[in-house]
This record gives sequence, C-alpha cells and structure tokens, in this order.
Amino acid sequence: MTVNLLDYDLEGLAVFCERLGEKRYRAIQLFRWIHQKGARQFDEMSDLAKSLREKLATTAVVKPLEVLSQHISEDGTIKWLFDVGGGDAVETVFIPEDDRGTLCISSQAGCAVGCRFCSTGHQGFSRNLTTGEIVAQLWFAEHFLRQHLGRQERVISNVVMMGMGEPLQNYSELVPALKVMLDDHGYGLSRRRVTVSTSGVVPMIDRLALDCPVALAVSLHAPDDALRDNLVPLNRKYPIAELLDACNRYLGHAPRDFITFEYCMLDGVNDQLAHAQQLVELVKAHATGGVWCKFNLIPFNPFPASGLHKSSKEQVLKFAKVLLDAGIVTTVRKTRGDDIDAACGQLAGDVKDRTGVASRMARQRTIMLQPVASLASPPAEL
Ligand code: SAH
Ligand code: SF4
Repeated sequence: MTVNLLDYDLEGLAVFCERLGEKRYRAIQLFRWIHQKGARQFDEMSDLAKSLREKLATTAVVKPLEVLSQHISEDGTIKWLFDVGGGDAVETVFIPEDDRGTLCISSQAGCAVGCRFCSTGHQGFSRNLTTGEIVAQLWFAEHFLRQHLGRQERVISNVVMMGMGEPLQNYSELVPALKVMLDDHGYGLSRRRVTVSTSGVVPMIDRLALDCPVALAVSLHAPDDALRDNLVPLNRKYPIAELLDACNRYLGHAPRDFITFEYCMLDGVNDQLAHAQQLVELVKAHATGGVWCKFNLIPFNPFPASGLHKSSKEQVLKFAKVLLDAGIVTTVRKTRGDDIDAACGQLAGDVKDRTGVASRMARQRTIMLQPVASLASPPAEL
C-alpha cells in the first residue's frame, strides 16, 4: 500500500524512513523537498540516493488535493475549493495584507457542533480531514502563491484554523499538521502566527497546551450560558465558566499572553449593550491578573436558513466601545472581496459546498481599535 507523505510530521517521516532501512536524517532532506520546495516527484529530489528514490517510488506518494475552483478577488484574496472525495469539498482562503499573508484552513468536511449562525454547522458533519488533507491546503497554497507572485521566499506567514470544521474535534489529525506548519524544516511558522480556533472543546484545549501550544482563539458569541447554549450547542457540555478556566490554564503554555475571543454580531440576539457589559464582568471575574484576552467582533455573514441578521455598523461600534472603555483590546473585522463572494454563491450550485467559509473569510479584514488607555502603544496583531 502506498502512503501519502503529506500525512507525516517530521518524526513520522523519520519512522517511515527507518522502516525503509534508511537513516532517520534522510527524512529531513525528504521533508524539505516536499514542504520547502513543493516537490512531488521523487525524481526531482536530486540529493537523495537513487536507491532511496526508487524505494519511495514504489511505497509512497505526495498526494495533493484536487482543486475544484479558484477565485481571485480584486483585493488579492484567493479562495480555493478542494475536492476531498465522496461529494465533499472544503474551502481554503488566502488573505494578503501589507505585513503578512494569512491562510485560513479547514479541518473537517462539515461540522458536528451545529452553531446556529454557521452554514457549515447547518449542513452537518461529513468526516474528519486527514493530516495530509489539512497539510495539503497549505502545501498547495504556499507553492501556488510563490509561482503566481513570482516569489522565492515564503508567502504565507500566518495560518488560522478557521475554515470549515471544529479543529479540536479532529485532534489526532490536527496536531501532526500543526507540527508540519511549525517545523523549521517544514513551513517554519511561528507558534504565535498559527491560530487554532475552537468553539470550546475544553479537554482538548488542555491537551493542546501540552502537545502543541499555538495561539488560541475561542468562539464565545454570548456572555451567559442560556444564550450560548442556544447559539453554540457544545456549551451544554462545556459551559462558559469551564471554558474560561481552560483558557486561563492554556495561558500558562501559550506562545502569546492573551486568548482571542471571537464574537459574531447578531442583530437583536447577542449585540445589545447589556451583553457587552456582561462580557466585561465575565472577563474581569476570570482574570487572574491584568488583561488576558482580546475580542474580535465578527460581522455576521447571513444565510437564509439561519433566520438571523447582521448587526448594524453603528451597533457594532457601540458594542466595541463598551469593551474598549473597560480596557479590553477589541478588533472589528471589515468586509472585503465582495467580487468573489458573488462567485461563491454561483459555486454552491455546482458542488456540495457545505462551507460558507469563503464568503465569511474572504469578505473580512481586521481593523484595529484600541482601548483608550493604550492608545500610545503600537496596535497588537490579531
Ligand atoms: N469551528 C471553529 C473554527 C471554524 S469557525 C470555531 O467555531 O471557532 C471560524 C469562525 O467563524 C468562528 O469564530 C465562527 O464563529 C465564525 N463564523 C461561523 N459562521 C459565521 C458566519 N455566518 N458569519 C460570521 N462568522 C461566522
Ligand atoms: Fe462548527 Fe465552528 Fe461552524 Fe460552530 S462555528 S458549526 S464549531 S465550524
């Protein structure tokens, strides 16, 4: 049986090389060819012994995902729809900014959490992606972009696990994929620039802290359990107090000294000023010292089945002001890339597009707001 080498982190590849009767260090060469140079064919890997290349040719492949479509926005945002078989497709979005290039990656086909405001959640769960399928999104995007932009050096500086699916419900496939992203022989990304976003799988937050601490974003969306139970059904299993305790424990291991709370602004549902005030109290009650979190207010990307509406811009700003006045760093995402958003709607008719991810990611760019107290300091990154 042939194996897909994209499924392995460096340690896994070393074990694989040993099984072929090769020295472990050969894995480093192979890993660099695949991830740093984007090579697929073993023939190209000129500094590997011919005997090893022959062995590889009969036992292994570098298997990319098939691109179903690609849309490039006027502002440079690119989204790809990848075929993962069985009629399922996942989306990956590249968002260029002046000082960084961010790739938004999917972890599952569909999602079992079923959040009310999320189109992926509405479509249900299909399956977990393999490590190779998670890594293939980065492998393809990075090497496509280098060619497309005529660049030799790295294009993608940040990864956010904010595509389709709940990454912490696909933990065993996620962790080796993160290791490939971080590895100096792989993509060499900083732990601070790889973000796992979760709806709050508490035990897995604790495991991630030990196995592979990267930046953490938590999808909060509500200041109390009654409302959060309704919006994020996983809250019934892991209520807010347990989730915030897990966040605090995570901070002891995290590469950054804060957790980002994502908060999708839903008109008349969770966007009242009383909700913002409740959030302030919640955060203060759980602070073990100083400000330990940031809020990222996300404009809701509506879809008919949700029955929900986006908050007005004015309301988002008023809401942000309550948090800012309490000294909490707060960002608001700005929409962009409307031209490919339109194309996304057309796409959904052709394939089983369960995502809605591109439309929500591609249209959004982060702008910084700062608490009055810290206006003098440089804007923190998302
Ligand atoms: N499952 C993980 C990561 C994927 S969702 C999580 O929930 O965190 C990534 C982010 O997109 C989450 O913060 C989620 O709340 C947000 N999101 C989902 N549907 C959205 C929509 N329709 N409009 C705006 N943001 C949405
Ligand atoms: Fe799943 Fe995240 Fe969507 Fe909730 S918001 S259904 S956890 S992908």
